[in-house]
Amino acid sequence: MDKIIDNHGRIINYLRLAVTDRCNLRCFYCMPNEGIEFVDRKELLSFEEMLRICQILAKKGIHKIRITGGEPFVRKGIMDFIRSLSKIEEIKNIHITTNGTLTRKYLDELIELGINSFNLSIDSLDKDRFHQITRRDYFSEVMLCLNEMLEKNVDVKLNCVVMNGQNTEDIIPMVSLAKEHAIAVRFIEEMPFNGNGKDEDHLLWNYKKILNHIENHFGDAIKLEDPAYATSLNYKIAGFNGSFGIIPAFSRTFCGTCNRIRLTPKGMIKTCLYDDGIFNLKELIRSGATDEAIELAILEASSNRAKDGFEAQENRLNTKVSESMASIGG
Ligand code: SAM
Ligand code: SF4
Repeated sequence: MDKIIDNHGRIINYLRLAVTDRCNLRCFYCMPNEGIEFVDRKELLSFEEMLRICQILAKKGIHKIRITGGEPFVRKGIMDFIRSLSKIEEIKNIHITTNGTLTRKYLDELIELGINSFNLSIDSLDKDRFHQITRRDYFSEVMLCLNEMLEKNVDVKLNCVVMNGQNTEDIIPMVSLAKEHAIAVRFIEEMPFNGNGKDEDHLLWNYKKILNHIENHFGDAIKLEDPAYATSLNYKIAGFNGSFGIIPAFSRTFCGTCNRIRLTPKGMIKTCLYDDGIFNLKELIRSGATDEAIELAILEASSNRAKDGFEAQENRLNTKVSESMASIGG
């Protein structure tokens, strides 16, 4: 099978697919309270268009797809799409990143479809702080979703963005969840993708500070071997069933092994989280392009890839990063 190999020799086998930019939460580090300028519905890729792109990519060695957004489960028709996606033979792993507000009722069917790996975003285990961060009242539902995922024994990773003055008191309780449960709790450095133009050039809680904070409480953590292409630095506390990881998303120390590309809700191919969109696949598709032409466009985009997130940011038309993560696909 052909492979997509970038200009730095990295094999690309993983697509992060943002199926919508809409969301029913308003996490303040992701979008303003009034929301972002959501893409006009007809400018969103249709599920048919997404499926076609996925089929083309599957033939080029993409075997893992993460469905993300925005919140995937707010888009009507998402389950029909996932059913079709799960039938593509070459796609071996479908993972989903979700805020857990609408997910619970689909869990059984998702598991039946072979989807048993979820990243559940939860930034606080305290109802009030959760509300302060997300500006919505869904804490109880998200906890029910987490419990149901644990009961059903699916692979759960908790995503927690660490924010100075907001939820650092949650770090220890979050790690403690991994004592009893075989989950991976992952702390993410806050990035400036907040949809409000605020572009901080420094970070108070970087991965080193998060790790120090955890080790000050629990003692030395055991470093685990990081899986190939991992973005998190992974650790375990002795005697715990689960693990924790830290994602240096702001520090960008993981770019050297990056194996992923992104497709945004409006059909832009991104070869790095920090670029501002490399190629508009939607326009190409809607101009009546053949599968071969679409494949070529993806190969070309991948053969001009920045070596890391810093270079990708420098290459942007506007080097300031302020778009919402919901319009990128976090
Ligand atoms: N709505 C889903 C959710 O929240 O899981 C999927 C989309 S969300 C954009 C994907 C992930 O990006 C979430 O875990 C979220 O916490 C993370 N994220 C969003 N904005 C971020 C930012 N500014 N810095 C770091 N992580 C961010
Ligand atoms: Fe929505 Fe996820 Fe962004 Fe929160 S992080 S506003 S849940 S898209």
